[in-house]
Amino acid sequence: MKAAVLHSYDPSLKQSSFVTYEEIPEPKIEKPTDVIVRVGGAGVCRTDLHIIEGLWKERVEVKLPYVMGHENAGWVEEVGKGVESVKKGTPVICHPLITAGHSLEARRGNDMHDPDSVFPGINANGGYAQLLRTSERALVKLPTTLAPKDVAPYADAGLTAYRAARKASRHLMPGDYAVVIGAGGLGHIGIQVLSALCAAEIIVVDRSPMALELAKECGAHHAVKADGNEVDAVKSLTGGLGAQAVIDFVGEGGSVEKGWAMTRNAGAYYVVGYGGKVEIPTMDLIVTEKSIVGNLVGNYSDLVELMALADQGRVKLATKEYKLSDANNALHDLHAGKVRGRAVLIP
Ligand code: ZN
Repeated sequence: MKAAVLHSYDPSLKQSSFVTYEEIPEPKIEKPTDVIVRVGGAGVCRTDLHIIEGLWKERVEVKLPYVMGHENAGWVEEVGKGVESVKKGTPVICHPLITAGHSLEARRGNDMHDPDSVFPGINANGGYAQLLRTSERALVKLPTTLAPKDVAPYADAGLTAYRAARKASRHLMPGDYAVVIGAGGLGHIGIQVLSALCAAEIIVVDRSPMALELAKECGAHHAVKADGNEVDAVKSLTGGLGAQAVIDFVGEGGSVEKGWAMTRNAGAYYVVGYGGKVEIPTMDLIVTEKSIVGNLVGNYSDLVELMALADQGRVKLATKEYKLSDANNALHDLHAGKVRGRAVLIP
């Protein structure tokens, strides 16, 4: 089969080609629960750029050459002997993690914390290819309204945004305020999820006028330009007290301090973007009773719920399509900030 293969790291992201489009052996069924998926679309993620930079090589065991791509959807091609719920041709989106389901974490639905999980595209071959090996337990069947290439990025980007917004929506009452920091690939989904799940007033903070425009289209009630005075702007929109929930899709470059300052007493600050540091005096925590909540991808049921919202047309994803053989262009465009929404590779 054809695949876009990563052969070497490039810490400065300067090479003109990061991956090589070439012929490699097809994945084979190894376990009775394995499923081979014919890839219909693979989302291109900033994490892929971080993999190319070599940021992940210390965190996970992966040997080059290998195939990236952790946001995958397509059609079932072949199933192991024990697979009962899907057959050849079933359209599916792949939960990004493969778990056996026997660990306590997996039984409680915390798929991301399963100690024996495999993450195709991160620590195993992923979806920048014609075929992908995953497992039955990872598959969510797609309704006929949703084509694999249009939904692939939901498998990670959408799922992560959904999980944080869903957690926040549990605590947001009508009349409450939710702040979304960063209306990019994840943030624009988070805004739509918040509007679908709760009646809070949504305030979006971003540096880019284009992103704020997109945020309004996605259902934001107030757009605040991040020009240095964003904390005051949010305070004045919220009666001086801040928002009950702040979801930070940036997580670096001053957004942590500002996000925390925008959070109302007894409210919660949700961290999704990463790179910065949370440094808060313990006395502030006790006096304000604010919580800090971390968010990592999402579990299987989160993905099922997100697909229901997509099926209903309540969440929409902006995508830009590239051929798999053009993977280098997609990666360079993402690196240069030229992709509106999410880039998707089509084999
Ligand atoms: Zn991703």
